[in-house]
Amino acid sequence: MSSTLLCRRDLRFLLYDWLDVTRLTERPRYAEHSRETFDAVLELAERVATEHFAPHNRAADLAEPTFDGRRVRLIPEVKAALDVFAETGLLASSLDESVGGMQLPHTVAAACFAWFQAANVGTSAYPFLTLGNANLLLAHGSAEQIDTWVRPMVQGRFFGTMCLSEPQAGSSLADITTRAEPQDDGTYRLHGTKMWISGGDHELAENIVHLVLAKIPGGPPGVKGISLFVVPKVLVGPDGALGARNDVALVGLNHKMGYRGTTNTLLSFGDGAHRPHGRPGAVGHLVGEPHQGLAQMFHMMNEARIGVGAGATALGYTGYLKSLEYARQRPQGRPLAGKDPGVPQMPIIGHPDVRRMLLAQKSYVEGALALVLYCGRLLDEQKTAPQPAERDRARLLLDVLTPITKSWPAQWCLAANDLAIQVHGGAGYTRDHDVEQHWRDNRLNPIHEGTHGIQALDLLGRKVTMRDGAGLALLVETIGDTVRRAGTLEGEAAQLAGQLGAAVDRVTAVTRRLWAGGDPEVALANASLYLEAVGHVVIAWMWLEQLLAVEAAGGAGGDAASGDADLHAGKRQAARYFFRYELPRTGPQFDLLASLDRTTLEMRDDWF
Ligand SMILES: Cc1cc2nc3c(=O)[nH]c(=O)nc-3n(C[C@H](O)[C@H](O)[C@H](O)COP(=O)(O)OP(=O)(O)OC[C@H]3O[C@@H](n4cnc5c(N)ncnc54)[C@H](O)[C@@H]3O)c2cc1C
Repeated sequence: MSSTLLCRRDLRFLLYDWLDVTRLTERPRYAEHSRETFDAVLELAERVATEHFAPHNRAADLAEPTFDGRRVRLIPEVKAALDVFAETGLLASSLDESVGGMQLPHTVAAACFAWFQAANVGTSAYPFLTLGNANLLLAHGSAEQIDTWVRPMVQGRFFGTMCLSEPQAGSSLADITTRAEPQDDGTYRLHGTKMWISGGDHELAENIVHLVLAKIPGGPPGVKGISLFVVPKVLVGPDGALGARNDVALVGLNHKMGYRGTTNTLLSFGDGAHRPHGRPGAVGHLVGEPHQGLAQMFHMMNEARIGVGAGATALGYTGYLKSLEYARQRPQGRPLAGKDPGVPQMPIIGHPDVRRMLLAQKSYVEGALALVLYCGRLLDEQKTAPQPAERDRARLLLDVLTPITKSWPAQWCLAANDLAIQVHGGAGYTRDHDVEQHWRDNRLNPIHEGTHGIQALDLLGRKVTMRDGAGLALLVETIGDTVRRAGTLEGEAAQLAGQLGAAVDRVTAVTRRLWAGGDPEVALANASLYLEAVGHVVIAWMWLEQLLAVEAAGGAGGDAASGDADLHAGKRQAARYFFRYELPRTGPQFDLLASLDRTTLEMRDDWF
């Protein structure tokens, strides 16, 4: 039976026919794996997500977590699902065998994780944060820190958080005020308040490992003075045994629009609510060297940003499939060319306008999924490509693509959820169907992990200019390679290649023009528009890539019995849709950017 969470056939197409992940098993890191092990773990993820995560998605939304001043309570299904998840070992799917991981390629692990994000983004946030936390400590922590914190996280006994934001410092982390005082025994005592911390308190695990950004007094100002600390909810002895409560207190829960199954917290560090070793102050352990905190945290944030894009995609995808199912069974109206009231009504999928809304969703969510998995493949290249130059190339390309992979799905898969509501008509505006919750859940994604505006500044202000524009040059060259390959084919692929080639030329020209005057204020005034336009070009590239994979797999034909023929024809039509309806939007956007428009710059506060 087909799922309304994700499309199994699409995942197989992307992983095997396009990204050729099976070839990764030729590399030493993945040598133990095969197509069979990949299929088995994908099936496991689909089954556990379907049977243990999806069923309580609505219940966790309706009964959000509560705090009675002492304990946080969630509906019991959340813990039950997470216990099953821990047993599967999926949390550590991409981690090294040496820490208890499965050493799966990141591409396959991302596909597995998408099942959980589609089924229940609120519950899956706990392992998502825990994995990011574990990965950061694996990259920057000491052997002792890995033993003490990472191993229990891999086993599902401890959960992790990331504590960056403060009430007065969200986008501007330079302004955090949490301070970490060095102690004689090598530990630190932290004092400060952290806002918006996801998974910041609960009783789902034995302990919570907070990764906290704080400043050591006397350090450099701004971001250069930020350090990173492990601050556990419960102290852990040298033998791994749990000890006293650390001085980390839950001040209160935030009541959110969506993502309601994930607790979101205001945490107070070191205000004396608990007194470890007889005195106030949250005990923290420095990770790596002092003042390297933000760079280290970026390790987690980059991964988390791609994960946010994946979550946005999964929510868009499931909304699309649910609206598709609805459109197939909802009878309403008659064909435009024969409105005979004696004829039974037709399912709404027969109306071109409804098909437009479904095609738009399909082009957004399948385009976004391709980008997310492509980034997973780049991560695999970065880690395991045989030549250092190939690894560097993957790292640089991933760096440029990260703000797009975070933000494009957050904007357009949210737009897909909006269309999914529209396809449902009045029913979409009720709580009787899932699509309204998907929209509310997805609405977070342009906000957290760096807002849309901050990602835009990152792309235009940093990523395309870094190393004398090497990142942008690599992106353009890589898209150019696809354009060249498509150009050698006759017909539609060549025509779309021409369109994409022209759009990429504009990216280069407009970027140059924006920075030609050397005035960041002017260059960055319309950064969000730039992000949107470049994002559309990148997704058009993803569609041309998919079209090439369809051609390579035998054109629009394929094995009719396995459904490949329909899959391929659907890919062609969605690619066509994206190139005809979406890519042309970028023309006026690039025109406006190239004009160095100052409307937003010149608008004055008192004119509003
Ligand atoms: C549900 C939820 C979960 C979260 N989980 C976590 C978590 O686990 N850990 C954590 O540390 N944080 C978390 N956050 C915090 C999140 O990352 C911040 O909300 C986000 O970074 C924005 O900060 P802010 O809310 O202070 O908004 P502000 O920084 O005040 O931004 C408000 C608006 O101003 C714009 N803006 C701000 N500065 C600039 C600028 N320089 N240029 C252009 N525009 C700008 C922003 O784009 C935004 O539109 C979470 C937030 C939410 C809502």
